Amino acid sequence: VQILGIDIGGTRLKAGLVDDAGAISGMTSTPTPATFDDFRGAMQRIVRPHAPGGIGIGCKGIINTETTRVEVLPGTLHFLEGRLLSDLVPGATLVRADNDARAALAGEVAWGAARGRRNAVMLTLGTGVGGGILADGRLLRGSTGVAGHLGHLTVDPEGPVCICGNRGCLETVFSARAIEAEAISVVLRGVHSSLSDTYAADPRAITCEAVFAAAAAGDDVARVIRDRAVKYLAGAIAGIFGALDPEVVILGGQIAEAGRVLFEPLQQQVTQRARRLVGHDVPIVRAEIAEPGIVGAAALVKFAG
Ligand SMILES: [Zn+2]
Repeated sequence: VQILGIDIGGTRLKAGLVDDAGAISGMTSTPTPATFDDFRGAMQRIVRPHAPGGIGIGCKGIINTETTRVEVLPGTLHFLEGRLLSDLVPGATLVRADNDARAALAGEVAWGAARGRRNAVMLTLGTGVGGGILADGRLLRGSTGVAGHLGHLTVDPEGPVCICGNRGCLETVFSARAIEAEAISVVLRGVHSSLSDTYAADPRAITCEAVFAAAAAGDDVARVIRDRAVKYLAGAIAGIFGALDPEVVILGGQIAEAGRVLFEPLQQQVTQRARRLVGHDVPIVRAEIAEPGIVGAAALVKFAG
């Protein structure tokens, strides 16, 4: 049975058919339309050529999984708030929709690093930090669908103000945006570093990848920035182990692509912090699904249907 997976992102609208083994075919990707009418047209063009056994939709924000209603969605996709995603795919008999990070975890449960697990936690480390929780075999939703927003764990009560209005959330200190902001301020203050040499003319061009690369190449200042960010992430993950006792913590998103320079210090610090309480190994692994938006969306149908 082929499931059509649709990934509604802030910049791209992606889709593809996903088979029983989690393999994608017929993938499409277009810029996300800026108005509701254009968006509805784009969704219909995606669905029309196919006759899938079901449609799964992953979307930013908070989605009511009973009705597919978009409850909360700030930012460029604001026009979807209050809409039923199932209304955008007329004729489909089986439609499931959920938050994109929770969908990504569903993909890992179906075909990736959480296969065969009943307890797993996923963090998507990108511009911000998203998350999903599999607890005792169920994707945790909480009382209003907010559960799993692990980027908003408070790691420093007096830290920077977060997009959510709280202070010192994990994503204010460990996210591409946070790491870039710290590197930019280093360049603006004229701190001696290879980052200052490279980006003096255009500090805003610094990327999180560039900071990790400079740290890996031995730049002391880049290391200081990376080590601080990793320390906060390690503290948050240690707390997650105490709260949820997962068999595995899965890291996805662009920052997870940093690989060994992230995972080695992180694993060591989390083990040090959590081992005594948890009493077993605390494995932290990379996400395995290559197109988590599409495959995860399809997994919502497989996993929940
Ligand atoms: Zn927050």
